[in-house]
Amino acid sequence: MNKVIMIMVDGFGIPPEGIRCPGFKTCCTPQFLELLEHHSTPIDANLGQPGLPQSATGQCSLFCGINAAAAINRHLPGFPNAALREIIRGQNIFKSLIALGAKVTFANAYVNHTLAELKHSGLRSVTTIMTDSEIGKVRTRNDLLDGKAVLHDITREYLTGALNDMGLSRRMVTSPPILNPESEITPEQAAHDLLTVATENDFTLFEFFMSDRAGHRQHKPLLKHVLMNLSRFVVELSTVMADSITLILTADHGNCEDISIRTHTRNPVPLLIYRKNGGKIPPIKSIIDVHDLIVSLIT
Ligand SMILES: [Zn+2]
Repeated sequence: MNKVIMIMVDGFGIPPEGIRCPGFKTCCTPQFLELLEHHSTPIDANLGQPGLPQSATGQCSLFCGINAAAAINRHLPGFPNAALREIIRGQNIFKSLIALGAKVTFANAYVNHTLAELKHSGLRSVTTIMTDSEIGKVRTRNDLLDGKAVLHDITREYLTGALNDMGLSRRMVTSPPILNPESEITPEQAAHDLLTVATENDFTLFEFFMSDRAGHRQHKPLLKHVLMNLSRFVVELSTVMADSITLILTADHGNCEDISIRTHTRNPVPLLIYRKNGGKIPPIKSIIDVHDLIVSLIT
């Protein structure tokens, strides 16, 4: 069985000027842009619906392999509603791969809330719902500090108060800080931690959403900071990962590529498929096709 690491970047589209647009040149490392330029293809995230694509329907489409926006006749932001939750529990990438005998995991650490707390709140993302449904547990603060999980911001600054001096609201930082500044790690160390998780699994999923947060805030210094972290994390992964791993990076919709507006965009999103020994990118047109692509890569 082949191994796949998937990174879902929330709100990361490709602007009409392409990967080498001035915004990305400022905010990303050249090596990351090179990876995207040579190993990614733009795919549609609009799902045949008018209006701006959103996270609940975009992520449901991405991870379940169906057109979730068509299923409920609109783009739905934030967290899935009852109809989407039913779709997710019925069919998702974890379930599809487990049925084929694959070992799957969600690498993100849950530090602020337990899975039980989230189950009774409105804060259930697509990934939380499918992790709860198929795996039944999440990685915790102890896993994070043991190097067996990755925080959603990669470097753990969200928990140490390191972002406080950027003048951000409480939704962007945990106040008071949960971890000491010494607990922060480099993006490169986080990449090694993700690889530790990946050695024990066939499919390892990581979700990064600081891009969407920074995009909505139209906050250039924050965007540069988080995209630099993402760049270094992905480049380190692609450099040190084993030949048997396929690295996939994609997004649910556009946003941070255009911070002249507060909203998401209708731009395509990148689908990065990187293997050290090369290989062609299959003709994928839409985020709906990513589920089947992963199934075909693993089996
Ligand atoms: Zn958003």
